[in-house]
Amino acid sequence: MADTMINAVYKDANAPIEARVKDLLSRMTLQEKLGQMAQIDRAVATPRVLRDLSIGSVLSGGGSKPFLKATSADWADMIDRFQKGALESRLGIPMFYGSDAVHGNNNVYGATVFPHNVGLGATRDPDLVERTAAATALETRASGVQYAFAPCVAVCRDPRWGRCYESYSEDTDLVRQMTTSVTGLQGRPPQDHPYGHPYVAGRNNVIACAKHYVGDGGTDKGINEGNTIISYEDLENIHILPYEDCISKGVCTVMASYSSWNGTKMHAHRYLLTDILKEKLGFKGFVITDWEALDRFHYPHGSNYRRSVSIAVNAGIDMVMVPFRYQLFLEDLEYLVESGEVPMSRIDDAVERILRVKFAARLFEYPMADRSLLDIVGCKQHRELAREAVRKSLVLLKNGKEPRKPFVPLDRNAKRVLVAGRHADDLGFQCGGWTATWNGGSGRITIGTTILDAIREASRENTEVVYEENPTMESLSRQNFAYAIVVIGEGPYAESDGDNSELTIPFNGNELLKLVAGKIPTLAILISGRPLVLEPSVLEKLDALVAAWLPGSEGNGITDVIFGDYEFHGQLPVSWFRTVDQLPMDAHQNSYDPLFPLGYGLKSKA
Ligand code: BGC
Repeated sequence: MADTMINAVYKDANAPIEARVKDLLSRMTLQEKLGQMAQIDRAVATPRVLRDLSIGSVLSGGGSKPFLKATSADWADMIDRFQKGALESRLGIPMFYGSDAVHGNNNVYGATVFPHNVGLGATRDPDLVERTAAATALETRASGVQYAFAPCVAVCRDPRWGRCYESYSEDTDLVRQMTTSVTGLQGRPPQDHPYGHPYVAGRNNVIACAKHYVGDGGTDKGINEGNTIISYEDLENIHILPYEDCISKGVCTVMASYSSWNGTKMHAHRYLLTDILKEKLGFKGFVITDWEALDRFHYPHGSNYRRSVSIAVNAGIDMVMVPFRYQLFLEDLEYLVESGEVPMSRIDDAVERILRVKFAARLFEYPMADRSLLDIVGCKQHRELAREAVRKSLVLLKNGKEPRKPFVPLDRNAKRVLVAGRHADDLGFQCGGWTATWNGGSGRITIGTTILDAIREASRENTEVVYEENPTMESLSRQNFAYAIVVIGEGPYAESDGDNSELTIPFNGNELLKLVAGKIPTLAILISGRPLVLEPSVLEKLDALVAAWLPGSEGNGITDVIFGDYEFHGQLPVSWFRTVDQLPMDAHQNSYDPLFPLGYGLKSKA
């Protein structure tokens, strides 16, 4: 090894980050720089590719082949193998591994699954959100993953959008408050931390990613990856502000949105990516594309892959997530630099930003998975925390058919109760999308407690709990039920496959409610990522109604509240419309006429 390498500043853990960045950058060849700008899918990654091409990052994204039932230890082994390859590259630059740990480390079997963001928004508890994010960081780090594609700070203005559940709220102020998720994931920067610079407290924290910049939740008709048609002033006041909060908290990375603003693709938007995000807001971390975004976009119309790369990198993209044909990406970018179409200064800026994050996260000092964390995955304390989050996320929408005659808390001395509906005993449905796989699944896809399990646990010995997924008229009349708990809602989905312009309750939810509530006093629990159409005639029949969102692995958070051990706490983070014709709704307009307004939520013991 040459002398200059032995005493290299970039290897000195005590040297200032900026000095390390400058030193390392000055030693890199063009090819090594371009390699750092690529984040490749684990299916095409090998230790050798990482070593030879100095690849910056590897990921398991929603589009990756799922690593089914793999434990944290399996993940850590896989990631360490890749890391060894990266460390053998000429300059020994470590890679980081990214994954969508968006409600807990949800891709890993047995991890604690927290409520999706819409439920966390209902808690209105930024401190709780910070604690859940810190627990997520620990469980994520335990599996060797150093980079979480979270938090989603979208402001969902239209529940027809398939990603509404990934948004904390339709209300910008509430989303801003919930950016404590950034400090939960990365740790809290000290007072003198330089503004806009990435921050990661230590080995128990992960690199976070504020996404999807910007206006993803404001698209016309709530169409995923659609067009957000608003003035700059509205874009700033509604959608950009949460990014300012993330930046002030030291967020390391920002992901560009697939969507467009007034017809221009965000991945091509130099003004918003560079002039606003990097210059005006002072963001010093890196901007990553969304999954395969450059393969997918042909902007302007008719452009080819090389042209997309040129437009995106010149607009301010620093790292490209999944150039599947990564060799083509590297060749094209090299050509663009050599022909002068992408200036070298742009490449240096991108690589500086990536290295800054790597140094901030202390990857050079601690490149390998920390196996002492393995036992923390799905541990009792984290499940307890998730249960607290579930409790606080529940929104009581109706309680009792007459004033002053509350129906919940439910009577614990009942002799026989009916639990009905598929959602009562389906852990996959309870967790929603982004759990085990991209669009989630059904049944025991991970470890957890279903609502039915929880009801059985919480019931007294002399209470008989009868579960019927689909009760019939006959079965209802035969037995003498004190009351029924009917659990209905949406099945799991992710991204565009969740776009829905009808928003009716699927799986015959309304029929089930009508059938049961017509015969037996009924508490309905709705499992969904967003408000759904509640038919007035059905609502009238119900004795009580609870919105439980997508609560995750800890069903007992629900029984804690419906049986009265805890009071209801949640308040609607989104407006509950009456009919889809009212969408999008705006709580600040005079014509606002929701079924339940933003912020609504009853107490059971009032
Ligand atoms: C989603 C992102 C996600 C990425 C990686 C994309 O399809 O839009 O939110 O982080 O995939 O899985």
